[in-house]
Amino acid sequence: MKDIEKSIQIIREKISKAAAKSGRCEKDVLLIGVTKKVDLDSIKIAYDLGIKDFGENYVQEARKKIESFEKKATWHMIGHIQSNKIKYLPRLFDYIHSVDRWEVLEILDNFEKRMKILFELNIAEEKTKQGAKPDDIRKILERIDTLKNIEPIGLMTMAPYVENPEEIRWVFGRLRELRDELNREFGLNMKELSMGMSNDFEIAIEEGATMVRIGTAIFGERL
Ligand SMILES: *Cc1c(COP(=O)(O)O)cnc(C)c1O
Repeated sequence: MKDIEKSIQIIREKISKAAAKSGRCEKDVLLIGVTKKVDLDSIKIAYDLGIKDFGENYVQEARKKIESFEKKATWHMIGHIQSNKIKYLPRLFDYIHSVDRWEVLEILDNFEKRMKILFELNIAEEKTKQGAKPDDIRKILERIDTLKNIEPIGLMTMAPYVENPEEIRWVFGRLRELRDELNREFGLNMKELSMGMSNDFEIAIEEGATMVRIGTAIFGERL
């Protein structure tokens, strides 16, 4: 059993230090607890220790947990979005981090709920990873004004797994530049950068992350 309280305390300290390095403070970085394969009791422990935002990857698993979680949390969809599951998202989630194609937005827009969305980019162009290319996102942004319930708030990426996360610092820097470029090109004000996981969140924060998605470092190894 991993001690969730101790883990969260250590992570918060690291977040503070990394934020200070980029001239920010801890509260400028939202800690999202990634709860795929994590049981409800552990989620409740994290909640009582101050984590109110949780990330889930799979709609079916998320649905069971979200519907039986009695406290008021904010749920983030961070996993690959299957076309036949899009219609379930608005009822379960407030934020969708993993938007990678127009179809997702078009279907989400049909629900009477304003959805905060982030575009997932495959910055390192890894074949095994999801995520769009910058020009795919440009094509979406060209016509996003036609949607009424979609609020684009930022970009998300998953960096390649490496022993030494210094090697992937550039991925996070590139996502930040891209956010700024897209804001300029399309007159937007997207603020969020969802980047950084257990292995690399400190470097992601130094490069400007506003949301970090952390599973293993809080809840222990997933089985
Ligand atoms: C599983 C997952 C995470 C958390 O990964 P850890 O290494 O356990 O912190 C973050 N983001 C996404 C998209 C994930 O699928």
